Amino acid sequence: MLYGKWRPRGFDEVVGQDHIVTTLRNALASGQVVHAYLFSGPRGTGKTTTARILARAVNCANLSGGEPCNRCASCQAIANGTALDLIEMDAASNRGIDSIRELREKVAFAPSDMQKKVYLLDEVHMLTDQAWNALLKTLEEPPPHAVFILATTELHQVPATILSRCQRYDFHRIPNEAIVSRLRFICSEEGFNVPDQGLLQIAVQSRGGARDAITLLEQVVARYGPTPSTDEVLDALGLIHDERSERLATAIIESDLATALDIAREIGDDGIDIARFTRETINVLRDVLPQALRGRVREESQYPGLAEAAIGTANAAANIARAVQELSRADFRLDPASPVPLEVACATAIMGPVTVVVPAGSVPTAVGGAVANGRPAAVARPAGAAGVGESVGDTSASREDRFLKDLYEACRMANPRLGAWLNGSCKVLAMDGDELELGFFMPVHMNKVDVDCRPLIEEQAEGLLHRPVKLKVRLVEKDEQPKKAPRGGHLARAAEALGATPVTKEP
Ligand SMILES: [Zn+2]
Repeated sequence: MLYGKWRPRGFDEVVGQDHIVTTLRNALASGQVVHAYLFSGPRGTGKTTTARILARAVNCANLSGGEPCNRCASCQAIANGTALDLIEMDAASNRGIDSIRELREKVAFAPSDMQKKVYLLDEVHMLTDQAWNALLKTLEEPPPHAVFILATTELHQVPATILSRCQRYDFHRIPNEAIVSRLRFICSEEGFNVPDQGLLQIAVQSRGGARDAITLLEQVVARYGPTPSTDEVLDALGLIHDERSERLATAIIESDLATALDIAREIGDDGIDIARFTRETINVLRDVLPQALRGRVREESQYPGLAEAAIGTANAAANIARAVQELSRADFRLDPASPVPLEVACATAIMGPVTVVVPAGSVPTAVGGAVANGRPAAVARPAGAAGVGESVGDTSASREDRFLKDLYEACRMANPRLGAWLNGSCKVLAMDGDELELGFFMPVHMNKVDVDCRPLIEEQAEGLLHRPVKLKVRLVEKDEQPKKAPRGGHLARAAEALGATPVTKEP
């Protein structure tokens, strides 16, 4: 596994968390070791890796400038996974009081062959209230030889009493440039030759997680060999680049609806995955938007020509912001082969009238910011304009099945090991508003998803539904019927008034 092989061995190799490693290194170099550290941040950003380096550093016999030597007996033991005094515990599967009680009994004993006994508690937010209380007692009176490193992806679920006992480090999503530079290093060491555009796409897909980026690189090379072209990388990532997405973006920026509709129809006629093409166009527009707002082409822009053109076009930023908003709403799940949702989105973006309601007191650029981070500002729709997702013939069972299939694919792509738990193990019970309720057929699957896969599923579901999602799980019988989505779109009512019968209407 490429990731295991290239896991950073010293603070200087940790990618994109300079603010953290500099502080830790300086503290260690001057002999300051505290009893409890709390590492928070998104998955794959280096929390566990940094914790293991820290465990080595506090025990290293030849610490130099805060960096562990990786040669002394304790460094070697930790690297080989044979150190008795580094205790790693996954709080997700040891969340109860008994686990912490056992920890409290053992922590009192002196380390067996190192200076410090290091406890690394991963996913610590999963602990029960009782377990938190027990842990708090230990943190209040820690034995002098103990060091606790708590890691979590959900900082807000960590009690304030625990936070106040810990030195806290917030890990950030890793910037794309830092991931690209790490991938480039790995490629040169492994003898791979991957174009920079390909590496950038891998970084973008990994959403700030080095672990995912390296895993994706490995998948690309496994499929296309050590010297893939940019197109092959995009293909392996499921992102075949269609230059028409840039042409569509240009038409939108220039308010050229006729050209936009031609392109949308052409995509439909060619049998291309329209949802994917639309996402690609959104990405093009999102790349260009901040540049249009600032009036300056960014050096690392993926579409410098388009950004240049946008800067010279009147109202380009507003056009782009509206288009991102409308294209994000387009719902292709009802009929994936139909270009109509894309055409409607283009028309609404270009023709309006759409009133963007900017919250009182916010500056005008908030519109761009709000759209660029994927949460569009509120929109007042003109009377009579139907939401693209509203449709008379929507059969909600198949809508949910399709969503679950999309969700499984998305999760599997993001994390094959965890994504697999969604395969055939459950069904969608509710997916309206911000609630996503999954019904599982077996407790083992439900617990696995509840404990390990929650952030992954919520993140991927948000990406598919374009709104925040809170996952709920419960056990169901395999033939229990899903809740029917409430009907009531005015189009549906109008159609019923004309004598239409919704396909899923109960007899
Ligand atoms: Zn050492």
